[in-house]
Amino acid sequence: MGAVSLHGVCKSFGAVNVIKDVSIDIAEGEFCVLIGPSGSGKSTLLRIIAGLEDCTAGEVHIGGRDVTDMQAKERNIAMVFQSYALYPQMTVRENMSFSLRLARRPKEEIRRKVDAVAQMLELETLLDRLPKELSGGQRQRVAMGRAIVRNPAVFLFDEPLSNLDAKLRSQVRGEIRDLHQRLATTSVYVTHDQVEAMTMGQKIVVLRDGRVEQVGSPLTLYDSPDSVFVAGFIGSPA
Ligand code: ADP
Ligand code: MG
Repeated sequence: MGAVSLHGVCKSFGAVNVIKDVSIDIAEGEFCVLIGPSGSGKSTLLRIIAGLEDCTAGEVHIGGRDVTDMQAKERNIAMVFQSYALYPQMTVRENMSFSLRLARRPKEEIRRKVDAVAQMLELETLLDRLPKELSGGQRQRVAMGRAIVRNPAVFLFDEPLSNLDAKLRSQVRGEIRDLHQRLATTSVYVTHDQVEAMTMGQKIVVLRDGRVEQVGSPLTLYDSPDSVFVAGFIGSPA
């Protein structure tokens, strides 16, 4: 139950409106990319979906439920950040177990779950290592593993590749795609990189200055951009 919809969402910080009447419908299982220039409101929208930020007006629905007034921990959502913020003093297994331990799941269940996800992400030989003993790509996989073990209804990614070099970036991009193919978890993926958006998104939402400029498949945006802004951003001639 992971469809996500935003209805007329607005957000202001003090007197500054940063999200202006945004409505987006993301189907269950869909991989949706939010793209836009720096400052266009991508991270703020993601944080509103996650429940880490209140909206000033509008509604957020997840799996058909109105979650607008629900706290982050009630929303069954997992967020993967750009800085892979692992707990440095914990092993890979402890990092991946942490949220399940907080939720007081039985020890045996946690072990089984972490083993299964580690195998899926090819982390099984690294479970006893500390984050500092891992490569950048491995750390990013642990961050994903930590999200997957919680079995969330929705994954949110905020520029998860931006700390990686070009080669790793394309590798992790492939891993995220494989993961989505395997789990079909509804995903909202923020980037400012059009190649990333075009290769990953089933649906692409172009944001400009806190508003939705256009929504469409990669092909639609490429073939029929609604504006010079979208054409320029997606990279085809206007
Ligand atoms: P993006 O992720 O697309 O770069 P953000 O969502 O981070 O954009 O920011 C959108 C706008 O909102 C920017 O102008 C930013 O300065 C402003 N903003 C974001 N968070 C805050 C905050 N906590 N307080 C004040 N302004 C903020
Ligand atoms: Mg951002």
